[in-house]
Amino acid sequence: MGKTSLHSALDQTLKKWGNCVEKKSCYICGKKNLSKNEIGLTKKLLDKDSKRFYCIDCLAEYLEVDTEFLLAKVEEFKEQGCKLF
Ligand SMILES: [Zn+2]
Repeated sequence: MGKTSLHSALDQTLKKWGNCVEKKSCYICGKKNLSKNEIGLTKKLLDKDSKRFYCIDCLAEYLEVDTEFLLAKVEEFKEQGCKLF
């Protein structure tokens, strides 16, 4: 494999990654770079195909619970081996 083709293969991989780890921001407050937990919670508690994501504060407000409750849920889901977390 020549240097050029190796380089373009790497380029392709990076592009794919870029799509995969697309940065999500909060639908309500616009907080950027939501964590995997926040995205996982949105998917798990609202809709797994959700196009709207919430940060933990807005999610807590939306669900009328406190953030501690949501953080406890994250741990619970992790223990269950949920792939989203
Ligand atoms: Zn928010």
